[in-house]
Amino acid sequence: MSTNDLNERVLAAKADVEARGETFYPGASRIHLAAFPPKERWSDWVELDSKAWPEKVERRYALVPTTCFNCESACGLLAYVDRDTLEVRKFEGNPEHPGSRGRNCAKGPATLNQITDPDRILAPLRRVGERGEGKWEPVAWDDALDDIAGRIRAALLEERHEEVMYHVGRPGEDGFTERTLAAWGVDGHNSHTNICSSGARAGYHFWMGMDRPSPDHVNADAILLVSSHLEAGHYFNPHAQRVMEGKKNGAKLIVFDTRLSNTATHADHWLSTYPGSEAAVLLAVANHLIQTGAYNAGFVERWWNWKEYLEEVHPDESPTFARFQAALADLYSSYTFEFAARESGVPEATIRAVAEVVAGAGTRLSTHNWRSAAAGNLGGWQVARTLFLLNALMGAVAVPGSTFPNSWNKYVPRPIHLPPRHPAHWNELTWPHEYPLSLMEMSFLLPHLMEKQDGYVDVYFTRVYNPVWTNPDGFSWIEMLTNPDRIGLHIALTPTWNETAFFADYVLPMGHSAERHDLTSYEQYDGRWIGFRQPVGRRMKEMAGEAVTTTLGTNPGEVWEENEFWMELTWRIDPDGALGIRSFFESRERPGEKLSVDEYYGWMFENSVPGLPEAAAADGVSPLEYMRRYGAFEISRQVGAVYEEEVPEAELEDLHVDGAGRAFTRAPKPPSKNVVPLPPLDPDDDGRRRVGVEVGGTVLRGWPTKTGKLEFWSRTLAEWGWQELAIPTYAKSHVHPDRLESGQFCLISTFRLPVQIHTRSANAKWLNEIAHTNPLWLHPTDARPMGVETGDLVRVETRIGHFVVKAWVTEGIHPGVVACSHHMGRWRLREGQRLSMGTADLDQQGPAWKLTRKKGTGPFQSPDADTSRIWWTDVGVHQNMTFPVQPDPISGAHCWHQAVRVTPARSGDRYGDIVVDTERSREAFQDWLTLARPAEAHSPDGTRRPYWLLRPVRPEREAYKLPKEPESV
Ligand code: SF4
Repeated sequence: MSTNDLNERVLAAKADVEARGETFYPGASRIHLAAFPPKERWSDWVELDSKAWPEKVERRYALVPTTCFNCESACGLLAYVDRDTLEVRKFEGNPEHPGSRGRNCAKGPATLNQITDPDRILAPLRRVGERGEGKWEPVAWDDALDDIAGRIRAALLEERHEEVMYHVGRPGEDGFTERTLAAWGVDGHNSHTNICSSGARAGYHFWMGMDRPSPDHVNADAILLVSSHLEAGHYFNPHAQRVMEGKKNGAKLIVFDTRLSNTATHADHWLSTYPGSEAAVLLAVANHLIQTGAYNAGFVERWWNWKEYLEEVHPDESPTFARFQAALADLYSSYTFEFAARESGVPEATIRAVAEVVAGAGTRLSTHNWRSAAAGNLGGWQVARTLFLLNALMGAVAVPGSTFPNSWNKYVPRPIHLPPRHPAHWNELTWPHEYPLSLMEMSFLLPHLMEKQDGYVDVYFTRVYNPVWTNPDGFSWIEMLTNPDRIGLHIALTPTWNETAFFADYVLPMGHSAERHDLTSYEQYDGRWIGFRQPVGRRMKEMAGEAVTTTLGTNPGEVWEENEFWMELTWRIDPDGALGIRSFFESRERPGEKLSVDEYYGWMFENSVPGLPEAAAADGVSPLEYMRRYGAFEISRQVGAVYEEEVPEAELEDLHVDGAGRAFTRAPKPPSKNVVPLPPLDPDDDGRRRVGVEVGGTVLRGWPTKTGKLEFWSRTLAEWGWQELAIPTYAKSHVHPDRLESGQFCLISTFRLPVQIHTRSANAKWLNEIAHTNPLWLHPTDARPMGVETGDLVRVETRIGHFVVKAWVTEGIHPGVVACSHHMGRWRLREGQRLSMGTADLDQQGPAWKLTRKKGTGPFQSPDADTSRIWWTDVGVHQNMTFPVQPDPISGAHCWHQAVRVTPARSGDRYGDIVVDTERSREAFQDWLTLARPAEAHSPDGTRRPYWLLRPVRPEREAYKLPKEPESV
């Protein structure tokens, strides 16, 4: 059939569907008649049962939208629920979701495996025996809630607020739990972010007051990715599909990745940079733009804080733009292509070619960096800062085809209640004074900070988080979790067994993505949308006309959802409202009664999402029902360059413009329905609020930074002791060749297997069948002298121990560098996920720990016949336990790359061996601590941390003051 015939066929089908008043969703390829069922028939969709073929058996489905929970992208899913049995038969994409547009990666449809996983936890459990002994008994939700609420209530009444801590892996919801903790008055939020993205976040934040990039790949001429986003990154599917669209439109794809990742295989220019050299290469590109005059001088003059830089760094010179241009040329002149080639190992000609592509892209340069180099290196945050320097030089900022700040491409609807106050207490365990600029909590240091501060947490929640396995130095976590003098009560909120839950007191099952409510919005293109996760069983009951008041009972077993859990727990903490906490979850419709999730989201959709009530009315339904039907709503497209927006006259009451051009007003801030977090900016001396910045005689919105401009020079960094790093620059990483001992390699451990994601995909049989091992990538030139071939066992020695893994000899890695994916090596001592966890023995002799694999996975009997067909035994190796903590002294990010020795396995070494000495972990912590510049020595104003920096659950301003005496020494 010719292309014309195919086109005609599709057009005819489209006309046919639309003539029926239904929506036609074109397929990715022209030969598809339609890629999805029309939304008008989602409540009663009929299709043939593929398993019954060749018999034509019709199945009737209700298609219920929800969103995927397996990574942060929150792609739309449609659950195909069999109307006869009420079972979910499959998950496919939701074409109404603006971010994912009907597409998913392999992990989306695998949600089906997760909800039918035979090893999932279906009822609340309470520990019996010692913590970690593996003995459990069922417990009623009521009893667990009363116990936990009682302890939290006592802590609040006794002013022990710092003893309540909530440690989250995947949030999945914008701000719900942060607001809950703030309502309790607790500065107890602890996240995984400092082992993940805070390096990159810091680099962006110091530039623009917002901490994430939102690249517009589709409209770009050049796409520059530092790391492997296309196939294995954080925004896997929504970004990947747009990268491919951009490429189809003619964009050149440039990928910095030490490994030949899936992304790199799609690149026009692949730069296998030596780990930590990325900033040097980016600065060489910047230098080329500067020296050749290829940069956008008009944008730089208009939007950089160049005057402030000159005034501070060259105070004796006239602060003209010409002088700044000369200074700029001087600052980066040493970053030649030759220098970058020497540092990175990438040929000079390749770097030059990339610089020409960037120069030719003009403002259509989209760039992205997440994790990867920023998460691997000491000073990794400068990778994001130097990458954004290219955007800032080209004016490729928040214009079509460029990179936007996340906050302008994100929408967090104002909820029905905001917390009545900020916490009055500062939690030194999560925000220690040694790391005043850390972008997020110093979560991975918790065991060490506990020891250092003689800390104690009475109620510790881990939530979809597994620090024993995910964090570096997992044995130190086990030591802390099993010590009742450190942790009073540990509650693991998880649908799935994990290595941390083994050391809990309560294991409380929370729903997977099709079993819970959440609202999400992420930066994936120049637009704003919200996506609604909903419990599918609950929706089916409601569609059948049943009155449903709680998700508990509509999910499998006694699996609950967290939003209702927090509401219920809050009421039990403050049963009579005397603590002023309960009101946060009180109904407005029924004063004195508990808020329901229906009212919570119904109010939000009715009052805080522009355009949604109108769209719902056009469908003849309420906004809540609209979201339950379609699962997502696009609020706006082409948000554009917010910084160029003129501030309306009405907001300029009693305008005051200071010497730096910052504009202040007495006009109150117009109420905003979007409560996406932005930095709080100080008022002027007379109490006027910051409203914008004057540029060319007009007051524009500008940037949420100290100056209102893009901050090339960061006063924050300079004033808090880091003068030498206040501009985008390059400093040698801890794994720079100059810092490695003879015979050491750099180990990269930060990359993903595209179909796996941390702990969360371990219960998906399809994904485990595809990827279940993590061999050590080793270049032939490194393997040969050792006599190592693919499949041989090698021992990898870190500073605190070693692990034993199989080698994979490949030219897909930079010589002198080895790499091992971080998704693998799950283990269990007793109970656990049999699909993906090997069984292991744990041995401890004082600080000497050893984890020995007894066996891998294999077939087992369960209600799922597929589990008897497991053909693989390997589950990979748990390398993270052998890594010491390595906190970056500025961003606070764990610097994941390791200096290691690789040798053929020794006699007695067995695959999967993990050996660690936690005494050496403590020494490593102390060594890295010496790099820090603590607040009490460097704070310019007696505070613990710059107030303007973003911070989840921000305490009241008084709590920012440093105590008279340091709290720990
Ligand atoms: S990219 Fe994949 S894992 Fe992430 S939300 Fe989308 S479908 Fe799920």
